[in-house]
Amino acid sequence: MPELPEVEVTRIGLADRLRGARVRSVHIGSPLRWPLGVAARTLHDLEIGDLSRRGKYLWMPLSGRARSGGLLWHLGMSGSLMLHARAAPPRGRHDHFELVSSAGTLRLTDPRRFGAVLWSDAIDVEPARRLLAGLGAEPFDPRFTARELHAGCKRRRCSIKAALLGGEIVVGAGNIYACEALFRAGIDPRLRCHRLSLARCERLLQALRDVLSEAVALGGSTLRDFRGADGGAGEFQINARVYGREGLPCLQCGTPVRRVVQAQRSTFLCPHCQAR
Ligand SMILES: [Zn+2]
Repeated sequence: MPELPEVEVTRIGLADRLRGARVRSVHIGSPLRWPLGVAARTLHDLEIGDLSRRGKYLWMPLSGRARSGGLLWHLGMSGSLMLHARAAPPRGRHDHFELVSSAGTLRLTDPRRFGAVLWSDAIDVEPARRLLAGLGAEPFDPRFTARELHAGCKRRRCSIKAALLGGEIVVGAGNIYACEALFRAGIDPRLRCHRLSLARCERLLQALRDVLSEAVALGGSTLRDFRGADGGAGEFQINARVYGREGLPCLQCGTPVRRVVQAQRSTFLCPHCQAR
């Protein structure tokens, strides 16, 4: 499933190339999670602005004489975006949305079709507003501090791992990144949120930022390798220190890594290094 770093790498890879391009046509394949919300024709000739990201959504501003607003993109469970600068290859059976522009053909490939592309007159009005409303803070937002994280934790009684996965306090910690950040911060994933001290929230926020920026950097390097072909982001993952290492010695202390199941997801932890 594309996580925040993958979406951010996609944004980085596309933003410069699409800025200022004009929409020539739009092709819609099989239905995605939500309908586009406007007639595809009305997007013709609109100019693409600066791509931004909120959580795992990408916002593509579009402006023109006839209308302005933008498209909110989500990659769902299995989506990927690719910009074909020259002639695009024929559409495959999983290519469900295509935006042809003066900068090339931007194609959403999404086998499971949980992804979405929808029109909104602005990012802060319906339907975009409703979709973005429940999102927690952006992990790299300097206004989001350990104090905010601590305050969010104080209000919750679930485990810290569940709170990270839920994304209501802070977005971006998918399963792998949550496990890794908690390992680096030395926090047991089963610890109840409200019991986290401010000092531990400081360590956790730093660890989360480290893990996510490593993933973005790794994806960025993958992107450079792929750029020659089509600019699409390849598969990438951080060098996991705890995730997927059940039974193997902890890289810090040698204790075998344990796997437990929380909210139907695997959690990996070192029972020695990660304290309750
Ligand atoms: Zn350990």
